[in-house]
Order: sequence, then structure tokens, then C-alpha cells
Amino acid sequence: MKNRGSLVVISGFAGVGKGSILNEMMKRHEGYAYSVSATTRSPRPGETDGVNYFFISREKFEEMIEKGELLEYASYVENYYGTPRFYVERMMAEGRDVLLEIDIQGAMNIRKSMPEAILVFVLPPSAGVLEQRLTGRGTETPELVKKRLARAAEEAAGVGGYDYIIVNDTIEESAEKLHQLIQAQRLRTGRNASFIEKIRKELESFKQPE
Ligand code: 5GP
Repeated sequence: MKNRGSLVVISGFAGVGKGSILNEMMKRHEGYAYSVSATTRSPRPGETDGVNYFFISREKFEEMIEKGELLEYASYVENYYGTPRFYVERMMAEGRDVLLEIDIQGAMNIRKSMPEAILVFVLPPSAGVLEQRLTGRGTETPELVKKRLARAAEEAAGVGGYDYIIVNDTIEESAEKLHQLIQAQRLRTGRNASFIEKIRKELESFKQPE
């Protein structure tokens, strides 16, 4: 039987490149599953149901909360966002490492509901680089860029609550670092207890009488 996969939470400031890192890593390596969140907000142009989010009604979302079908959820600007439990559990049981791209609030809730989750925060090499990346997107007004940077300044206080940081110099290097980090979790003694026990038993017969 395959070992159970990890739950990996990835957060980072807007514009830092989390999405690109995840895409690059999934392109290079197999065995990953990306968890799609559920939300009550309407799809933006270009967004597809089941790909970007599961777009569901408020009624349905509240039903999922009641039934305990969400691993965590939060509400922002009058909309709910949450992680459906079913997919995450199923993929982990199949031995896949599940990737969850959520913000600090969501990450801290996951920490409580699933203490074994791995929390990774992606940082820019410097504030200047983040500003350039946000400006370079060309989709945000200077006003909005300022707002996002101010929000990043606040979020920076929460980075210490994560297990690992990745400084995003290049997408390729960051994707590789993240992959290595996730693979290393499979070598943890706590996750290999039955193998350790098997070896211990096998060695039993070699024990010398005292
Ligand atoms: P947006 O509407 O721009 O797609 O997302 C708004 C906020 O919701 C972002 O900060 C995003 O990180 C957060 N978000 C998206 N999915 C989830 C989720 O499953 N759980 C939580 N807690 N936050 C989420």
C-alpha cells in the first residue's frame, strides 16, 4: 500500500508567484493534487467552475458547514471561501500530496484541524521586487499596487506561524525547492512507523543472549 500523502498549505503575498510555482512543480513532477476551494462569490470572466473554484450558493455552502464537509472556511467581503474535505482526504489516502493555496487565516485554521499539515510561505527576495512584479502585471492600478503592498506589510507579521519559507528568486528553483521539501516529509520517522517496526522485528532473531 502507498503511504498517505501530505497536506501542503501554500501562502504568500499577492503577486509573489505562488500560482506559478505550483504550476511549474506540477508540470515537472507527478503525484500532486491541487485542492479546488468552494466559494459563494460569482465567477470572474475567464474563471471555470471546478477549475478555479467550485462556485456554489450560500445555501449550499452553509449546508456544507453544518455537515462538517469543510476542512476550514472563512468569509471575506460577504462571501464564503472554504476547502472541501472530501477531495483532500481521498487524494491523501491515495498517496498523493495535496496542495492548498490559501491565506494566513485559512492556514492557521488548517493547523488546528490538521496539525500534521505542512505550512509553507512564499516570500519575494525583497519588497522592491514584489512592487515591480505587481506593477509589471499591468492589470493593477498604482493605487491597487499600494494597497496590496500595505496588506503584505500586515501579513508579514504572520510568517513565523508557518513551518517553511521559500524565497522566490526564480519560479524553476522555487518549484524544485518546494518539491524537495514535500518529498522529505515522506522520510519522517513518524510516517514510517510500520517499516521501522518491520526492521526491528526482522533483527530480533539476531539478538545475543545477555
Ligand atoms: P478571490 O475572491 O480573490 O479569488 O479570493 C479572495 C480571498 O479568498 C483570497 O485571499 C484567497 O486566498 C481566499 N481563499 C480562496 N480560497 C480559500 C479557501 O478555500 N479558504 C480560505 N480560508 N480562503 C480562501
